[in-house]
Amino acid sequence: MSLKLLWDLQELDLSLKALAEQFEGTPLRREAEEAAESLARIEEERGRVKQELQEQRKTLRRGELDLETVTAEHGELNKKLYSGTVKNIKELEQMEIKLGSVKEKQLAQEEKLLSLMEAIESGEERLRDLAGEVDAAVAEHQRRQRLLEEELARIDYEREELQQQRDELAKKIEPARLRLYGDQAQRHQGRGVARVINDICQGCSVFISSAQRGFLYDPQALVYCENCGRLLVRFTEEEARAERAKYCE
Ligand SMILES: [Zn+2]
Repeated sequence: MSLKLLWDLQELDLSLKALAEQFEGTPLRREAEEAAESLARIEEERGRVKQELQEQRKTLRRGELDLETVTAEHGELNKKLYSGTVKNIKELEQMEIKLGSVKEKQLAQEEKLLSLMEAIESGEERLRDLAGEVDAAVAEHQRRQRLLEEELARIDYEREELQQQRDELAKKIEPARLRLYGDQAQRHQGRGVARVINDICQGCSVFISSAQRGFLYDPQALVYCENCGRLLVRFTEEEARAERAKYCE
């Protein structure tokens, strides 16, 4: 068995690890969450405006009843004042003052109801706008969610493919070598095997000593980098290409 297989195994494991990180860390996850939060905020505002409108309408109904009472009171005072039944000047004066204050009350109440109606009108307008905003936010949330799900499905598919390749490859490697690979991987954060290119360890970028260089041409020899401790594998691009071609047959 060529040590190159351990290198290939490491490449697959690194790709699998990168895919796992993509699965957890895809920005689409955050974007979908933000769309959900934005939708929740708009729905909350809509609830608040609805509630406020309900209360304003209730206040308006009560205010209209109050206005009716004041208007009736004014009407009666008016009728009495000009009916000629009250002759006493003092009493008439008192009634006139009373009539004036009731009239003021009536006008103030009318004013209050008017501004309340305006507030209700703008509240209703805001509610109509919010209905549109909610629809847009729902659509945006669904779109983001769909994008996220598609991305996760894509990553899952790729992971399954790579995992299958990894399982196939691992079957070709002797158990002792697999254990060695596992130990090395643990010691070097998943990169326990290093390629040697132009006599340089690609794990730590340090030159391989001439004594070790000789061993690298023996395919059965296990050579470790004297600097970083990684298992060294030497193969040329041609060898790598030839091997890939062999896999594809
Ligand atoms: Zn090294």
